[in-house]
Amino acid sequence: MKPKPCRRAEILIHRYLDEELTPAELGELAEHLGACAGCREEFRSARKLEELVRQAPVPPPQVPAEPQPPAEQERRKKNGKNKDTPLSLKSV
Ligand SMILES: [Zn+2]
Repeated sequence: MKPKPCRRAEILIHRYLDEELTPAELGELAEHLGACAGCREEFRSARKLEELVRQAPVPPPQVPAEPQPPAEQERRKKNGKNKDTPLSLKSV
């Protein structure tokens, strides 16, 4: 059975992970973690788990919404309209 301050810290840890802590609560949690090795350990593993959960469903930031190079878009536009003479015919 955990002593009551630890129960409180546990709640604060969860709220910290949800980013719902006020600065005052953050201070309270930090103070308790500084004094209580058990909760510090719990905080560390909870945070680690949270990071894993957050990283899993989200693709790496450089992959999504990569804009195409302008040259590529330009070429496609011209092909679609079929306005310009193909380069190979121009040079003949
Ligand atoms: Zn504690």
